[in-house]
Amino acid sequence: MSNAPKPIETLITGDTVITMNKERTILSNAALAVEAGEILWIGDVNQAESLFTPAQRFDFKGKVIIPGLVNVHGHWAMTLVRGLVDDCALEQWLETIWRVEAALISPETVVVGSELAMIEMLRGGTTCAADMYWYYTEVTEASRRAGFRIVTGPSFAEIEGFEDYRNTNHSIAIEYLDHFADVPLVHPCIQAHSTYTTSPTTLELVKELVNQHGLLFVTHASESRGELELVQQKHGQRPIAVLDQFGLLGQHTLLAHCVHLTDEEISRLAETGTSVAHCPSSNLKLSSGIARVAEMLAQGVNVGIGTDGAASNNDLDLFHEAQLAALVQKGVTGDPKVLPAEKVFSMLTIDGAHAMGLSDKIGSLEVGKSADLAVIDFSSANLTPCYDYYSHLIYALSVGDVQDVMIAGQLLMHNREMLTLDEVAVRAEANRIAGEVLKL
Ligand SMILES: [Zn+2]
Repeated sequence: MSNAPKPIETLITGDTVITMNKERTILSNAALAVEAGEILWIGDVNQAESLFTPAQRFDFKGKVIIPGLVNVHGHWAMTLVRGLVDDCALEQWLETIWRVEAALISPETVVVGSELAMIEMLRGGTTCAADMYWYYTEVTEASRRAGFRIVTGPSFAEIEGFEDYRNTNHSIAIEYLDHFADVPLVHPCIQAHSTYTTSPTTLELVKELVNQHGLLFVTHASESRGELELVQQKHGQRPIAVLDQFGLLGQHTLLAHCVHLTDEEISRLAETGTSVAHCPSSNLKLSSGIARVAEMLAQGVNVGIGTDGAASNNDLDLFHEAQLAALVQKGVTGDPKVLPAEKVFSMLTIDGAHAMGLSDKIGSLEVGKSADLAVIDFSSANLTPCYDYYSHLIYALSVGDVQDVMIAGQLLMHNREMLTLDEVAVRAEANRIAGEVLKL
């Protein structure tokens, strides 16, 4: 066998690589060999130089490379209504937002809002995100054009004013699921908005689709006290019991929020392997409450972190969300040991990947996984000196420290400049649409 260096597509080098593998290995002077978007090899820089002749190189000297962040819950195009209605409760907030959205949304506006969301998420080191919104086919195409990794799919809901939108059309849903079944960077899922916006007939249909396609199921659950009342009126039970009754809890289920859970419900989520998308900013801002995350984790429930939509957060900054998640749990439990920095960073990466059924592809930097990563400039004043990487990532970093972002071996942001999305044009379009919103 020849000892000649092997030609490869890409060699990425950096001072430090935080792998988030099982052993939580942190490598110094490390390199990643990338072929066809996947990590082929990971190890010492000098060894890499003797093993490979790369066609292209990305040298991140003095920088820290981390797995790209995973945003497990959001509504991308809601960037268009960010700041339109604040400081009121969920039910009143939804009433206003739904009224505006019903008049505003079209395939074109949803794509602009989604592109704006991708730009913001990339700036914060996010490489994979879930979206629950209308015109998911157009959003998926926009995401593919940008080279961003998306988890989305038909979202069933019976909301007044939205009857005409094609999301609830069963045949369109099937068409989507078939068309995107095996498309790179697209991870189709099946969604129901919530149990208060879906009838038993719709939940039955959703269950059938989930079983037929073996895909991830996503829904909002137990977000507010008002929701508990609505679901009680509609189904005669609490949201978790309704989902359980329809066979919709399990390892392929991701529930957004789960703010109001009983002890029994937490146990049931743990028992069934159901994952939770924790969205603390949205829950606090809408006064929905504080999810019992420390108790969920103690019981073995897998929890990822989501920003929710930009109208209830109001940003898509996952690092900020993670810091808030950690601080709030310490505050409410009176125990500073809960949600330590390393665990919170795993919620942002590998646990989030697990919540979306993608832990074999993303969430850590390991051989065989996709080269989805972010490059952090640890020379910033707020990250100097550094005793513990996880501590800085959760408690001290700001989005401006994210320098480059790569998805499946393709750079989407370099030195904070977007490479696949036209940021100036997208912002101009968003401002034009805002002019329309103001006339509504
Ligand atoms: Zn949501």
